[in-house]
Amino acid sequence: MYISTIFRNKKSCAKISVLFAAAALALGGCSGESGGGVPNDTLPFTAKDDSTELSDTEDNNTPDTDMPPESAGIDTQGELTLPETFFEPEPSPAHKSWYKYAEDGGYPAAIMYHLILDKPYNSETDLFVSPVSFAETLAILNAHDYVYVFADEYAKNDKKSVALTFDDGYEDNYTNMFPILKEYGAKATIFLIADSIGTEGYLTEAQIREMAESGLVKFGSHTKTHRNLTELDEQDLRHEFSESQKIIEKLSGQRCDSIAYPGGQYNSSVMKIASEYYDFAYTTKSPNSVFEYSEMNIPRHYGARSLSAERLLEIIEY
Ligand SMILES: [Zn+2]
Repeated sequence: MYISTIFRNKKSCAKISVLFAAAALALGGCSGESGGGVPNDTLPFTAKDDSTELSDTEDNNTPDTDMPPESAGIDTQGELTLPETFFEPEPSPAHKSWYKYAEDGGYPAAIMYHLILDKPYNSETDLFVSPVSFAETLAILNAHDYVYVFADEYAKNDKKSVALTFDDGYEDNYTNMFPILKEYGAKATIFLIADSIGTEGYLTEAQIREMAESGLVKFGSHTKTHRNLTELDEQDLRHEFSESQKIIEKLSGQRCDSIAYPGGQYNSSVMKIASEYYDFAYTTKSPNSVFEYSEMNIPRHYGARSLSAERLLEIIEY
C-alpha cells in the first residue's frame, strides 16, 4: 500500500494546463454569431447539471456550485486561474473541436451519460438516453472513424477519439448499455458510487465483474457516498477518494485511476487532494464553456436525451 501511495502521488503536484477552447465564446466574442446553425452544447448546462441527478443517491441536496458557462473558466478557488495574457490559438474561435486544430493531435471528446433507458422515471428526462439513440450515437461515431478511449486514457491522440463516461453506476448500464457497447465494439467508463454498488437500481458486483472482464468497460470512482466534495474536510475527502478506490479496484480487478466529482462539485482543494489518488478527474462542465482545464478537471459534453446522435456529433466536432 505504501508503494501504491507513492506511485499515486507522482502527479500530486502536476498541473498540466491546457489552454482550451471557449476563449472567444466565453469572452463574448462570438456567441451571437451562431445564427441558429451552430452547435451549442452549453444549453443543457444552463438549466441543470449532474447535481440534479436522481435523488436516491443524495443524502442531502446541496446547491450547485458550478458557475454558469459564461464564467465557468474562472476558478475563484485559486488553483486554476485565467492566464494573465490571454492566448487565443489559431484558428479562432478556439473552441473548435480539438482533433481538427491541434497540431500534434487532439484530446478525446468526453461525453457524460447517466442512464440508457427508454422511459425516464423522474423529471430529469435528459439523464435518460434511449437505447436506440445511444446505438445511433455509436453508429455515427464509428462511421466517422472515432476511436474509443477509457477515462484513464485521456491524452492527445492523432485519431479522433471519444471517452464515453457514465456517472453513478445504474443497473441499466449493464442491461441496456453494455449489449450496445458490445454490438458496436465501443468502450466506456462507468464511475461508481462505491456505497451504492449492489443496492436497488444500481449495478451488482457480478455485473461489474462481467463488464470488467469483457475489456470494454473500465470503472472509475464517483466517490464512496456521492457527497458534495466542496463541503468536506481533508480527512473526509481522503476517505471518499481512498475507500471508493480500494472497493472498486478489488471488485473490478482493474486500476481505478479516474474519478468524476459528484454533482460536478469541486474546487482547488478537492482537485489537489484528488490528484494524490487519481490521474484523471471529470467534471460536469461543458468543453465549450471553460477556458482552461487540467487532468483534474476535465470537461464533458452532455449526452442528453434531447440530443440526437447527429446533433451530438455536431457538438463534438464543432
Ligand atoms: Zn452522480
